[in-house]
Amino acid sequence: MASATGVGNGAAAPASRVGKVIIRCGAVTKAGRPCTNAAGPDGHCIAHSRSPQALATVQAARAAGGRAPRVRIGLAPAVVEAVDLRDSEGQLAVLTAATKALAQGSISSTVASAMSQLVKVAARIVAGDQERAIAELQQRVEALVIEGKVRP
Ligand SMILES: [Zn+2]
Repeated sequence: MASATGVGNGAAAPASRVGKVIIRCGAVTKAGRPCTNAAGPDGHCIAHSRSPQALATVQAARAAGGRAPRVRIGLAPAVVEAVDLRDSEGQLAVLTAATKALAQGSISSTVASAMSQLVKVAARIVAGDQERAIAELQQRVEALVIEGKVRP
């Protein structure tokens, strides 16, 4: 509406900022535009400053906020050395170690699920080997029965 001219058009700066000089960061953002953050003592904002103090502050803030990447120590070398997927006992041992490590935060859930997938594959191979061995034994027993050496 024409009668509302000049109201709420956002052009006027708040009175408190009038006459106040805000020094902008002199850096260029990744998008190629000048950074609009307020500059610190060295002429750059906290994100673009390379002063040791600013870097330390950013590092401390990241650590406090938990935004720094988690440090995963992985499985202990002795545990890795003992990994044996050839039987169900060894497979269970790996799953147990992975579960404990996941609970302690020393491995990620991605690593834990990859480990459980590998154990599943190993278990399938072992099960396949057992089926083959059982089939071979059945054939031998049947042959002995046919030859009359063993009574069914
Ligand atoms: Zn900046």
